[in-house]
Amino acid sequence: MARRKKIYEGKAKILYEGPEPGTLVQYFKDDATAFNAEKRATIEGKGVLNNRLSEFFMTGLANIGVPTHFIRRINMREQLIRAVEIIPLEVIVRNYAAGSMAKRLGLEEGMQLPRPIIEFSYKNDELGDPLVPEEYIIAFGWASQQDLDDIVALALRVNDFMSGMMMGVGIKLVDFKIEIGRIWDGDFMRLIVADEISPDSCRLWDIETGQKLDKDVFRRDLGNLTDAYTEVARRLGVMPTNNGTGGKPTLVN
Ligand code: UDP
Repeated sequence: MARRKKIYEGKAKILYEGPEPGTLVQYFKDDATAFNAEKRATIEGKGVLNNRLSEFFMTGLANIGVPTHFIRRINMREQLIRAVEIIPLEVIVRNYAAGSMAKRLGLEEGMQLPRPIIEFSYKNDELGDPLVPEEYIIAFGWASQQDLDDIVALALRVNDFMSGMMMGVGIKLVDFKIEIGRIWDGDFMRLIVADEISPDSCRLWDIETGQKLDKDVFRRDLGNLTDAYTEVARRLGVMPTNNGTGGKPTLVN
């Protein structure tokens, strides 16, 4: 059988041509990178967990009417998605100060923000994804004012959904990043949630202990990343508790 066509390879995922026009297969790798890929590692089981967790969040969002690129999971590491035109922005939603915001403003990590704050970074690895004001986004034509209004509305709905979901299992959603894609239906354009939603792109802290259950575990050398992601999946009922497989994720179907 001919090898399938690779469309794009990123730091944590690969996109292959899908079985039908307008679709792609998204493959989740075990690779982890941080600090603009200066720090790298292969973390066994991460891809499997993120595939399942992204499926779980995207399916939940679809159930409350938030459009996403997710179609269905294919296997442990792959999901079928809608091909979109990615808007070159990282849409970041923050509920508590952390990471680059805490650093930029000299805020204590964990300080509750007066309201959810949305910011945009220009997706460009060479430049280190710089923060950009809306003025730049519109002037350079990456998105229109209308698109931005729609993106903010989508991001806030994702925040409400994700915060509630996490709160229910004793986890605080500190911040997260989403990416938005355009799909075309004839002359009509729609914006949908794309890429992935997983502990790679969120900050998740245990409400009781403050323990970090996200990629900061890797960024800041705080322990075993797979254990942290497995804990998130277990609490959400996405995967069973450790069942003697040495902590490796096991699929339930
Ligand atoms: N984030 C991400 N990809 C990026 C940059 C940020 O997924 O390229 C996520 C990150 O995991 C965190 C949120 O966006 O949940 C805010 O990140 P921040 O701007 O604080 O940057 P960081 O401190 O992670 O460099």
